[in-house]
Amino acid sequence: MTDNDRLMEIMLDVHSGLPRQGPGDDESTLRALSLCTDLPMRPAVLDVGCGPGMQTIALARGTDGTITAVDLFEQFLDDLRDKAAEAGVREQIQIMRADMADLPFGKDSFDLIWSEGAAYIMGVPEAFNHWKEFLRPQGYIAITEICWLVPEAEVPQPAFDFFHGEYPAMCDVPGNLARIEACGYEIIDHFTLPDQSWWTDYYTPLSERIEAARQKYRGDTTAQAFLDDTAEELRVRREFGDSFGYEFIVARLIDPDAPSQA
Ligand code: SAH
Repeated sequence: MTDNDRLMEIMLDVHSGLPRQGPGDDESTLRALSLCTDLPMRPAVLDVGCGPGMQTIALARGTDGTITAVDLFEQFLDDLRDKAAEAGVREQIQIMRADMADLPFGKDSFDLIWSEGAAYIMGVPEAFNHWKEFLRPQGYIAITEICWLVPEAEVPQPAFDFFHGEYPAMCDVPGNLARIEACGYEIIDHFTLPDQSWWTDYYTPLSERIEAARQKYRGDTTAQAFLDDTAEELRVRREFGDSFGYEFIVARLIDPDAPSQA
């Protein structure tokens, strides 16, 4: 097993079974959905990087359409299968393992592409360019993306160091809006997720996992380093959370032929 495989195994062990894999809450999902005012009666929706699918279920409840939910990891998709069945929306959701950089869909397949806390994995311009072909003209795209909320020069050093190391392409809200527009989209609206949506279904249960994993992986330097990193992420949020946030951004495809900016 390579070091990377081992790290992935530890990550999945610590993270699987959590309600979410990133900040968010149903109210914000539904608020963003309500900004998509021109959807068909039964929209075809794609949820990229769905994780355990809290937002997938909210989307199924919030529309009469079908939701295609994709993620790279079966563990999360299994959680979504169970939760969707419990919620009574299993038939509305198609669940499949796929890589967001290599999606198996035809041109113009979706009225709405959704991605909470996952577009950063490809990069925002890369995701907006790459997913464009699957979106019908005038189709909507909604993402949440981590953004600086203050000018970069004013970001406290520990927050800057942490995120610059993890995600060098991170930028502020106007920077993200401009990157999205340059890919041929019109911004409909955007808003910042409330602080509690970082904690209730994500960081609070994750912090309990960290404590349990500290014991389980005692003496395992790879695992302890991963746990140190995760604990640092939570500390940075707790202490410097005013300087960055997750922005929900809703946009619409107006120029499918815009030259690729990525
Ligand atoms: N939308 C969920 C999960 C966000 S975390 C939520 O808000 O709770 C990011 C998700 O992207 C994880 O579930 C992770 O497994 C998934 N992911 C990572 N790399 C991926 C890839 N290349 N293709 C598809 N999904 C990926």
